Amino acid sequence: MSRVAATAVRGTRDVLPPESSSWQWAEGIARRLCAQYHFQEIRTPIFEGLEVFQRGIGETTDIVEKEMYVFQDRSERWLALRPEGTAGVVRAFLEHGLPAGPLPVKFFYLGPMFRYERPQAGRYRQFEQFGVEAFGSESPALDVEIISLGTAFLEALGISGWQVQLNTIGCPVCRPRYRQRLLELLRPRADQLCASCQSRLERNPLRVLDCKEESCRRVTADVPAPEEYLCSECAAHWQAVQEGLRAVGILYQVTPRLVRGLDYYTRTVFELIAPGLGSQDAVLAGGRYDGLVEEMGGPAVPGIGFAAGMDRLLLSLEQGGQGRAAEPELDVFVARAGDVPETAALQVVQELRKQGWRVDQDYLGRSLKAQLKAADRAGAQLTLVLGEAEWAQGQVVVRTMATGEQETVNRAVLTQAVTTRLQRTA
Ligand code: ATP
Ligand code: MG
Repeated sequence: MSRVAATAVRGTRDVLPPESSSWQWAEGIARRLCAQYHFQEIRTPIFEGLEVFQRGIGETTDIVEKEMYVFQDRSERWLALRPEGTAGVVRAFLEHGLPAGPLPVKFFYLGPMFRYERPQAGRYRQFEQFGVEAFGSESPALDVEIISLGTAFLEALGISGWQVQLNTIGCPVCRPRYRQRLLELLRPRADQLCASCQSRLERNPLRVLDCKEESCRRVTADVPAPEEYLCSECAAHWQAVQEGLRAVGILYQVTPRLVRGLDYYTRTVFELIAPGLGSQDAVLAGGRYDGLVEEMGGPAVPGIGFAAGMDRLLLSLEQGGQGRAAEPELDVFVARAGDVPETAALQVVQELRKQGWRVDQDYLGRSLKAQLKAADRAGAQLTLVLGEAEWAQGQVVVRTMATGEQETVNRAVLTQAVTTRLQRTA
C-alpha cells in the first residue's frame, strides 16, 4: 500500500492555533464593520462554470490566461476554482433576479480563492479574501464609503503606516482615446518592454502601466495620466470622489500608474498598501465596474467593490510586531484528584457549559500538578478540583488561578458559585 502524501500541496497551508484565533478575530472585525456599513453576507460556491470567470474577469488578464485552476468534472463540464469573488457574486446577483429588486444591494464575502502563482511570502495558491460588492449606484459617495470601509478595516486591525493609492481609468467613452494615445507612445518603444507586455501591448496597453518590471517602468515613466483624457462625466466623478475623501478625512495618493489587473474596472480604482511586505504590499484592492453586470448578460447596473488579502494583512501585523497576544481559551478547568468518578466531572463540566462558560477537563488521568499546568496553559480563570475527600462530603475546591486562592464550595451550589466568581472578573 502506498503512503499518503505527507505535506500540504505547494502554495497551500494549514492554519493552526493560535494563528487560527487571529483569523477569527480579523474575520470578526470584517463582519462587524460590514454590519456598520450595512453590507450583508453572500456565500457563493468556490467553483463555477469556467465561462463565469472568462466573461467576468476578462480573457486577456493574467488570472484567466495563466492562474486559474481549471478542470473537467465527471460529466466533462469545464469548471474552475474561483480565483476571485466578484464574478461569482455578479453571477448570483443576476441568477436571483436582484437587479429588478430594491437597489442598491450591498454584499460582503469571506472565503478562499485559488490561483496558480509562484508561491512566496504573501503569495499562495489558496488564499483568503474579505471582499465587498455594491450594485446599483453610480454615486461617488459610494466610492468614498467603500474606500472608507477598507481603511477602517486596516485601522481596526491595528495596521499602521498604510497608504491609499487612487486613480481613475475612465469609461468606455473616454478610455479608447487614452488607449490610443498609449499605443502611439508605446509602439515605437515596444522592443524595450518585457515579453509579457510586448504580447499584451496591442490587446491591453493599459496593463503595461501596471507592470512591475524595471524596464517597463522606464518606458512608461513619461506617459500621460488617464486623468488627462477623461470625458466630462468621468472628470466630474473623479473630482467628487476626491472631494468626498477629503470631506471624511481620508488621505490618498493619486497614482496615475494604478490601472489594476482586471478588465472590468471603470472610473475609480484604488489599492491600500501596507508596510513591511516587500513587493507583495497590496493588501486591499478594488474599484468601480459599471460595465460588468451588463458584460455578464444582465441589465446596465453599476457596481463597485474591493477585495482584501487576509493572509497578507495578518502577515503585515506579525511583521510589524503587532501580532495579537494569545487570548485565554477557557474559563474553567475541571480537575480530578484521587478516586472520583469520571461521571462526576462530566456532570460538572456539562452544567457549566450550559451556563455558557468555556469549560474543559482532564481526559488523561494526569497528576493534579499536571492538570493545574494544563489549566494554566489554556488560560482558565478557575480550576475546580474534585478531590476524593471533599467529594465524599459533597464539596468541591474552587481555585482562582491568578492568585492561587482556594475555597471549598458545596456541590449543590457549585454552578452558582462559579458563575458569581467569573462574572466578578468579567
Ligand atoms: P498582486 O498584484 O499582488 O498579484 P492582484 O492584483 O492579483 O495582486 P487582486 O486580484 O486585486 O490582487 O486581489 C486583491 C487582494 O488579494 C490583493 O491585494 C492581495 O492582498 C490578495 N491576493 C491576491 N493574490 C494573492 C495570492 N496569490 N496570495 C495571497 N494573497 C493574494
Ligand atoms: Mg495577481
